[in-house]
Amino acid sequence: MVVLQRALGHRVEQEQAGLWRIVFHVPTSTNCWLVEESAGLTLIDAGCPWNASTILDTIRRINKPLKNIVITHAHPDHAGAAASLSRHTGAEVFAHQLDLPFLNGKSSIAEIPGSSASLQVHRAGHWAGILNPPPVEHAKGVHEGDCIGELKVIHTPGHTPGSITFYSEEHKALFIGDNASNRLYLLNINMSPFTLERQQLIESFEKYEKYHATIVLPGHGRAHHSKNANLDLVRLARTCIFRKRRAS
Ligand SMILES: [Zn+2]
Ligand SMILES: [Zn+2]
Repeated sequence: MVVLQRALGHRVEQEQAGLWRIVFHVPTSTNCWLVEESAGLTLIDAGCPWNASTILDTIRRINKPLKNIVITHAHPDHAGAAASLSRHTGAEVFAHQLDLPFLNGKSSIAEIPGSSASLQVHRAGHWAGILNPPPVEHAKGVHEGDCIGELKVIHTPGHTPGSITFYSEEHKALFIGDNASNRLYLLNINMSPFTLERQQLIESFEKYEKYHATIVLPGHGRAHHSKNANLDLVRLARTCIFRKRRAS
């Protein structure tokens, strides 16, 4: 694997030709992805607010203009540097219409319904002033089936109402945000308190069945490679349903 940069707090590596991973090690292992297209680069997720300079430095090293910033969901570890990056590069920012109010500062995830555990962590984050990312004023809303460059939008709600997955036909890749993680080579559906509606998230995974992918790129942890990586996600969700039925 080509490593473009290695530093104390982050690493930049080439996942495959035209696809880069920036992994930040603090506060937890968090990914941003850069996809090269003929018009320029698309950044998938923008890390924490303090990650902007590293992302800009990576873009300079790749030496292509940043055209689009697409956000899988409006948590601050995925949309944190979007405002700053957009200001510096002129790139447009896109998120699902339902997460847009959290991205432009008009509302907070702590104010919407969810499981009691998720409400507690989101309210604590809101109270501490760290839940909303720095507001992106001119972010654009997208919907199921829209395309940003070659990335297709799949609406996969549950973690947040507007959580989206991006599918790249060219890379046979699914960028799944926080729907599942892949830490220690173990693909795990996100049942943490940061997921607002767990049942809805599990049901969203059925959408992956029709998108043939050989690589799943999560917001946290390594890329997951497999002949039918999309079906690995579907199986994961169905196992959750099976376990739940056996327990009840
Ligand atoms: Zn999240
Ligand atoms: Zn996250």
